[in-house]
Amino acid sequence: MPADYHSHTPLCRHAEGTPGEYVEAAVAAGLLEYGISDHAPTPEPFDDWRMAAEELPQYLDWIAEAREHAAGRLPVRAGLECDWLPGCGPWIEELAGRSDWDYLIGSVHYLGGDWDFDNPKWLGRWAETDVEEAWSRYWETYAAMASSGLFDILGHPDLIKKFGFRPGGDLARFYDPAVEAIAASGGAIELNTAGWHKPCGEQYPSAGFLRRAAAAGIPLVISSDAHAPGELGRDFDKGVALALESGFRETVLFAGRGRRVTALTAPRP
Ligand code: ZN
Ligand code: FE
Ligand code: FE
Ligand code: ZN
Repeated sequence: MPADYHSHTPLCRHAEGTPGEYVEAAVAAGLLEYGISDHAPTPEPFDDWRMAAEELPQYLDWIAEAREHAAGRLPVRAGLECDWLPGCGPWIEELAGRSDWDYLIGSVHYLGGDWDFDNPKWLGRWAETDVEEAWSRYWETYAAMASSGLFDILGHPDLIKKFGFRPGGDLARFYDPAVEAIAASGGAIELNTAGWHKPCGEQYPSAGFLRRAAAAGIPLVISSDAHAPGELGRDFDKGVALALESGFRETVLFAGRGRRVTALTAPRP
């Protein structure tokens, strides 16, 4: 199985498991590498689903413990899932210098800086939202994040569909400019399998987006976005099959913010 670079720790307050449990799960799932990418802190307390800036040392200890546990069995990579928020550039650069990260993931969870649209807490807000407009804002924000060049991996493209709110018509009007911006940025995208377990019932991003991304030569990783040990590598057989079907032939491996590719091979039944 490919590496799984998108996973969380209890420091974000909505994930569970010990470093040892995650390592055992990674080995059991046959992952090539296990990457830890918990929700990065913001400079000031901001919401209730991420580590605090003062907790970064604890996070690094957590990663060190996982590495100890995994020694000789599989590589453990260190990353962060950073939020793309208005004006966040200098902070992301500061975070990037705080440790020897293997990769940084950039994610859009906020529209306009105050609405974390994927939070079930705000589900009611969707009913009063102009879906077409929210999608436009989401994809503009996503393209700006890619173009910033601050991130190695661009997280869960099309997360905006999480609760199943999709505008009508051909979604190419959103996908095409985003794929163009991502391809120009050189960043990799994820095929994030968590969407299969959300109301949208579909991986992030959609098959149409994946086909366009493969045709544009955008590098790919496959991610579970695990918030519990049992979710590591979840549905990777399905994810690999879909990636191959979409035209991808390799996935990317990260170390020290450098990358190399590895062939994507069909899972054995
Ligand atoms: Zn989370
Ligand atoms: Fe996320
Ligand atoms: Fe995540
Ligand atoms: Zn995520």
